[in-house]
Amino acid sequence: MNEIKTNETRPNEEKKRILLVEDNIVNQKVAVLLLQQFGLDVVVAENGLLALQSVQKETYDVILMDCQMPEMDGFEATKAIRRYEALQNRYTPIIAVTALAMVGDQERCIAVGMDDYISKPIDRYVLNIKLNHWLQKEFVLRNQELARKYAQPSGLQSENEYDPVNLTELRDYYGEDLNDVLKTFIESTSNYILSIKQSISEHDHESLARYAHELKGSSASVGAKQMAKLALYLERAAGLRDWKEAKDTTEALINSFDSVRAFLEKSPTLSSEAVILPIRD
Ligand code: MN
Repeated sequence: MNEIKTNETRPNEEKKRILLVEDNIVNQKVAVLLLQQFGLDVVVAENGLLALQSVQKETYDVILMDCQMPEMDGFEATKAIRRYEALQNRYTPIIAVTALAMVGDQERCIAVGMDDYISKPIDRYVLNIKLNHWLQKEFVLRNQELARKYAQPSGLQSENEYDPVNLTELRDYYGEDLNDVLKTFIESTSNYILSIKQSISEHDHESLARYAHELKGSSASVGAKQMAKLALYLERAAGLRDWKEAKDTTEALINSFDSVRAFLEKSPTLSSEAVILPIRD
């Protein structure tokens, strides 16, 4: 087995707490064992209703949410948790655990307010990577901000008061690797946008959702907030098969990417050797 990063490598930090929402007793046991091996505390809720009640009493660092459950399923539970947390000004990342057979479930998970998804049966390595990602505060804060802005109907129009990315913050976070990170971001975004355009022209909503999801993650990682938000809209448009919305949002995404690139080209952060690829094909 490859090296697994766990909380055990950071003994000074408090143990992170996971709420596992799962009705199947075997799946419960397997997931609890995995999470405990990662050095995490686990609380189990057997359905969405019990999960909601648990979130109202205690805080968790991440929620792992099964989709099909009696009483209240994962979709309804997520909507209820997001409504409750909005009132409390809290935000807990929710990772859906989806059965492979449920085509379209993953898009639906994102559409109701989950942050990420993992397929059943749970792959130990994938789960570890996702948990490491979502247990980092900066990703939680960025997604919380996305969720808040998405809740405002006029959110799209009121974005221009910000710099496209916060370079000071990024430099603190990535240090000397920043140039390389930004270069990779620009190259990969160019490719994602081409794939997104192709998915739209082929009306392939699953590919579109996947590329939008990836682009949302990488945009959030470099603090390109408007791009991350537009990628979120695009992912939701894919879930709704709304091709007009998908086209419009992609145009807005390309414009936003153009302004991010222009901003980075002007900044002294990107060294002269950094390659700026043309995006328009
Ligand atoms: Mn189930």
